[in-house]
Amino acid sequence: MLSVTDARQRLFDALVPTEPELKPLHDVAGLVLAADVAANEDSPRFANSSMDGFAVRAADLAGASKAQPAALKVVADIPAGIVSQVALQEGQAARIMTGAAMPPGADAVIPVEDTDVPAPYTDAPLPSEVKVIRSLESGAYVRPRGEDFAAGDVLLNAGTHLRPQEVAMLALLGQADVSVHRRARVAILSSGDELVPVDRPLKPGTIRDTNSYALSSLVAGAGADVIPLGIAPDDLETIKAHLDRAVEQGADLILSSAGVSVGAFDYLREAVLSQGELDFWRVNMRPGKPLAFGRYRNIPFIGLPGNPVSCFVGFEVFVRHALHKLMGDLNWQRLVVRGVLDDQVKSDGRESYLRGVTQVKADATHVKLTGHQGSGNLYSLVQADCLFVVPAGVNDMAPGSDVDIWPL
Ligand code: AMP
Ligand code: MG
Repeated sequence: MLSVTDARQRLFDALVPTEPELKPLHDVAGLVLAADVAANEDSPRFANSSMDGFAVRAADLAGASKAQPAALKVVADIPAGIVSQVALQEGQAARIMTGAAMPPGADAVIPVEDTDVPAPYTDAPLPSEVKVIRSLESGAYVRPRGEDFAAGDVLLNAGTHLRPQEVAMLALLGQADVSVHRRARVAILSSGDELVPVDRPLKPGTIRDTNSYALSSLVAGAGADVIPLGIAPDDLETIKAHLDRAVEQGADLILSSAGVSVGAFDYLREAVLSQGELDFWRVNMRPGKPLAFGRYRNIPFIGLPGNPVSCFVGFEVFVRHALHKLMGDLNWQRLVVRGVLDDQVKSDGRESYLRGVTQVKADATHVKLTGHQGSGNLYSLVQADCLFVVPAGVNDMAPGSDVDIWPL
């Protein structure tokens, strides 16, 4: 049977990123850059003060101390946003605010706290003289031009997932519109005669559809748009009709849950095969062995297992990675924490994903099982703050074993 690693790779390789589009900067967080972005200017653009204080010539302050302050004549006032043309001569200073451009002739800034001027000094008149109580090095409290990066530097590469810090950088670079991969559209379908939406009464033998809601939150959280397809009953033609709606609404990916196992009423595989192909439909893992991947009318299709925990784990193990590729991020890697297992864990040798709760201790991050690990038991997933991995081929993990932890 196909290993988790091979299945994930096949899925990843089969998906193609959405096409680039130009989007306003306020709308690109969570999306992926479609083109490199280079600096067209140095940053900072001009040498500026990193403190509120006085721009000075460091040489004028040699030997200054509390006992013997250096007295400087204040010849200019430079708020942020203003460029002063007054060049400092020997023995002169200019009052300067944080972020303001250094005046000609100055090579350092003395913070207001190191002068006889009382701070804070909002609205204070410009003093004619300032006494400085210490010396400093040339360049002190000056942010030189180009300290952060230089014009021409490629700062962000195509394929970069835009976090808030990259959005800020794009603003710094004056990119009002940004070339990003279009948000992927993911259709979500639940299947099963027993399923009831959250706002409808339950009849005997029926259960709530939870997978639609879990998958919608996961997909939206990954930055993609959701096309909700609702619940299809266990009927081949109706399932096909639901899948057709996904195609008509322009889905880039169809995610379904349940109906891909070997049960008498599992029609999803048949529905997909009627209008497409299946690459695989089982993966050697636990929970969630029934996991299908193929195409329906040429739209990539992933059939997740029906059990709520298997469905969730299937998303984390396969779909999250695939969604990153679909949104243009080819290099995404999950952050895995290496920790220590506190419980005894048995496995049947399949690669297993168990629900755990972590505790950060002085020596390491420790992990314990949460509640009953049955694949239908949502509460033990709610109690978990991680999944941890029992590798393929391992039947027994003793307390104290090293373990890979996937924070949730
Ligand atoms: P199946 O793959 O159809 O055999 O479903 C496996 C198990 O998952 C059954 O117990 C189903 O009732 C349950 N199940 C399937 N779909 C959902 C869903 N959308 N929400 C909650 N449980 C589900
Ligand atoms: Mg079913």
